[in-house]
Amino acid sequence: MNNISNFFQLKSIFMSQQSYKIIVTTHKNPDGDALGSSIAISRFLRKLGHKVSIVIPDAIPSFYLWMPDIDQAIIFDDDNALCFSIFSDADYLIATDLNSLSRNMSMSVSINNIKAFRICIDHHLDPPQNEWDILISDNNVSSTSEIIYDLLTYMDPNLIDKQIAECIYTGIYTDTNKFFHCCNCSHPYEIIAELIKKGINVNEINNLIYNSYTYDRFRLLGYSIYEKLKFIENKGVAYIKLTQKELQEFNYHPGYTEGIVSMPLSIENVNVSALISERKDHIKISLRSKAAYDVRYLAQRYFNGGGHKNASGADFYGSLDEAEKIFIEAVEEYL
Ligand code: 5GP
Ligand code: MN
Repeated sequence: MNNISNFFQLKSIFMSQQSYKIIVTTHKNPDGDALGSSIAISRFLRKLGHKVSIVIPDAIPSFYLWMPDIDQAIIFDDDNALCFSIFSDADYLIATDLNSLSRNMSMSVSINNIKAFRICIDHHLDPPQNEWDILISDNNVSSTSEIIYDLLTYMDPNLIDKQIAECIYTGIYTDTNKFFHCCNCSHPYEIIAELIKKGINVNEINNLIYNSYTYDRFRLLGYSIYEKLKFIENKGVAYIKLTQKELQEFNYHPGYTEGIVSMPLSIENVNVSALISERKDHIKISLRSKAAYDVRYLAQRYFNGGGHKNASGADFYGSLDEAEKIFIEAVEEYL
């Protein structure tokens, strides 16, 4: 088990019979691992008697709204003032699935000068060490939820209830893209076996997350593949570019584009796939790749983004066509 001395330190702090005010937060555009890891640790800490606020930077996709305790999450974008008062009063801040608060832009400004002790629990590469008082970081795991499971098991396995188990399962299941990658080792599967013993219904959760498209979202997926897919010849690269107008035509809601970027990897000889989509005030770049290809390098080097070797992303501040041009140049240079 990695990070054992940090696990010991967290256990000493949070199981000391003292009650603390704790903020748990995660990255913007929250995904299953961001939500699963932050809700799981929040619920556990509440059981220990702490006062925990879950602050999510922006909107939660509808296919995660079934998750336990999700109604208690506060959305920073919806109520800055409330979040600011929570931040300024907190003893501890725990960030999960996020290696730097700077990724959350506007929210990071509100957090800059607060007094809370800062704890990071994450699986992205190269966390900025000086940002954290305690840093639990392991990029060899399937997900942040896997680390959270190990931490909670170390602290007190009996406090892991069915709801916490559902959150951990969601994080592992979605971050491995349904056990497709980052899981060629036994530990995530051992964890799943333990979660099933806690009473989770795997089939029910899988349906809630993946078989819950709205008609509009499903049509957007079809449109993206049939009308918008482009190839960069001889490079094994496919990409899809979507304008704000196109997203609106399909009544865009948060999460509608999730999953689109992975689809072109189903094509033989496509090794890298990108989704370049126009949002209200920026361009969102999502990159995915087959095992040997490093898209984190592309995200970081050309778009100042980050993520993992086979799944990375960035926000680009320029036009959609500029983003496309840079992407094509990056591919020509790198591949
Ligand atoms: P997605 O394409 O699903 O939004 O993100 C894929 C991966 O890239 C996730 O691990 C996510 O944390 C990371 N990622 C996405 N956008 C950014 C970004 O703007 N900056 C950094 N550092 N990582 C990002
Ligand atoms: Mn993750």
